[in-house]
Amino acid sequence: MLNKKSVDDINVKGLRVLVRCDFNVPIIDGKITDDTRLVAALPTIKKLVNDGGKVILCSHLGKPKGQAKPEFSLAPVAKALTELLGQEVKFAADATVVGENAQNAVAAMKDGEIILLENTRYRAEEEKNVEVFSKELASLCDVFVNDAFGTAHRAHCSNVGVTQFCKTNAVGYLMQKEIDFLGNAVDNPNRPFVAILGGSKVSTKISVINNLLDKVDTLIIGGGMAYTFMKALGEEVGKSLLEADYLDYAKEMMAKAEAKGVKLLIPIDTVVAKEFSNDVPFRTVGRGEIAADEEGLDIGEKTRELYASAIEGAKTVVWNGPMGVFEMSNFAKGTIAVAEAMAKVNGTTVIGGGDSAAAVNQLGFGDKMTHISTGGGASLEFLEGKELPGVVAADDK
Ligand code: AMP
Repeated sequence: MLNKKSVDDINVKGLRVLVRCDFNVPIIDGKITDDTRLVAALPTIKKLVNDGGKVILCSHLGKPKGQAKPEFSLAPVAKALTELLGQEVKFAADATVVGENAQNAVAAMKDGEIILLENTRYRAEEEKNVEVFSKELASLCDVFVNDAFGTAHRAHCSNVGVTQFCKTNAVGYLMQKEIDFLGNAVDNPNRPFVAILGGSKVSTKISVINNLLDKVDTLIIGGGMAYTFMKALGEEVGKSLLEADYLDYAKEMMAKAEAKGVKLLIPIDTVVAKEFSNDVPFRTVGRGEIAADEEGLDIGEKTRELYASAIEGAKTVVWNGPMGVFEMSNFAKGTIAVAEAMAKVNGTTVIGGGDSAAAVNQLGFGDKMTHISTGGGASLEFLEGKELPGVVAADDK
């Protein structure tokens, strides 16, 4: 069980606190078009301000590739945070992130004040975790707080390197929540524990399937990856997504499930069409009945019922990846059915980032889930059972 030092376990009064946030927000023509990530960061920032810390915020934004490109500046974020917090967030504009401007701004800070550093990816060292930039960041602070889950699966200067030169390394509320629900739900689940995996490919989720088979009572497979399992059982899948290189792997996973007594569910019927389009006729067929010129684009009605009843009695449910091409309304029913079934569960329900998080929010089930992860890649690595460098780097309690 992961037990990391959090902002509730430290006293930052009068101290300089560097907080790694995820301010990687969409910006069009200098305007932030979705401030969800800024709003999500407020509780940790407010806590540190109220405790009398000198709060220095940092984040990456987009991919400036080690260059100070103005379109990737965090200046609009400082402005937006100032409005959201009702308190000035001073922007320390510095092409080198930790330049004279930032150093002077930090030196002049009073307790409870906030500054924001420039985009950490203006520095080429950031993504290579090069010591010199990690040391520069650490020189600005007494305490480091990591609240950026989205980058926790990467070892960069601003989330991992910096911790080597800082005495106290804690996690913020957002990170804490991810660790509690995603990490500990998978490692210490209340049972029955059901995991649902969908999305386009088996190949991107090999380690997830393998790891989850060691933990779950039921593993539900949907989306494009299901056809590789069907084909492995000798069934025709027409033009459906198929990863021929993974047929043996699918067989291995079915054998593993059987040996472990895990129920591995694959669709019993499929919604098919002759083209990948919302504007062509579609029909539902049973297993092995997909014609050569058809492709599977969603799970069928019987599968929706089967999956909903498997989810119903669960005490822990983790979901990653849509059941079909949910972006097209004709093929969204499977994904909606899973979201609906999860919303009714009397237990812990966790959505593992990316497309499934977007689908759940879009369909209006967001507030019915226990936790929706903010990190697509990071949450998948958690489900793979990997240790995330950004989490490991924080002090244990
Ligand atoms: P992933 O990024 O691997 O989680 O996959 C998400 C994508 O899988 C979504 O854009 C879905 O439209 C797509 N997807 C789900 N089911 C299917 C399917 N049966 N055929 C093609 N694409 C699918």
